[in-house]
Amino acid sequence: MIALLCLAAMLVVPPASLDPIQIWGAFERDVRDQRIEKTEAKALFPQIYGQLKELCRPDDFKESGRWVFPVQGYTLRDVGKGGFRPYIRYGLSPIKGYNFYDGNRHGGHPAYDIFIRDKNMDCLDDRTHKAVNVLAPVDLLVLSTYEEWHKGSEIRGGNYVWALDPIHDRIFYFAHLLKVEAQAGSVCRAGDVIGTVGRTGASAASTRSPTHLHFMVLSVKRDELASFDYWGFLR
Ligand SMILES: [Zn+2]
Repeated sequence: MIALLCLAAMLVVPPASLDPIQIWGAFERDVRDQRIEKTEAKALFPQIYGQLKELCRPDDFKESGRWVFPVQGYTLRDVGKGGFRPYIRYGLSPIKGYNFYDGNRHGGHPAYDIFIRDKNMDCLDDRTHKAVNVLAPVDLLVLSTYEEWHKGSEIRGGNYVWALDPIHDRIFYFAHLLKVEAQAGSVCRAGDVIGTVGRTGASAASTRSPTHLHFMVLSVKRDELASFDYWGFLR
């Protein structure tokens, strides 16, 4: 299974025969689990990103000024106030400020949390008794998904999805999902279901944490991954 391979092992294969989606999947997990040096990961990223962009056919991605709200049936009122704090020390992390290459140890909270009505924490909407869909805000190429989280796992994102908006050079991250519907390598149009809101993740599974979607967007600028405050697009 490709998910178990690490990037170093994959790069032994001649690069031309490798699928950029598989390379990203291995890269993202190596960064997450700190199996790769930060400087090495940072040096590899531009090449990997360039190959991912080449996969995107222009016809599949339409420019849209407005984003679809990423949690179906919810609004801006359900977004945690002051959620976007990329520079803080966060949770149990010893690191101050967000850096993608810190992986699962990362500091900061360069994201908003979007809360659903789930008092009994069963991941079902208290009004509809149904799971709550997470939607693609814009047209996205799904880069990688992870749905193997289990109780006791230290992975903070739980079950998650990484996806690419090639028009604006932004990478989207949806975390703590119950189920993942999106498939790596496929295109999700704005409004398509990516998964459902859940309680997966080292802290998100705790009863102290109300059920929410952790939704982060990173902006790729001059080969750097920068945190991006997308609040204005949610309105
Ligand atoms: Zn969060």
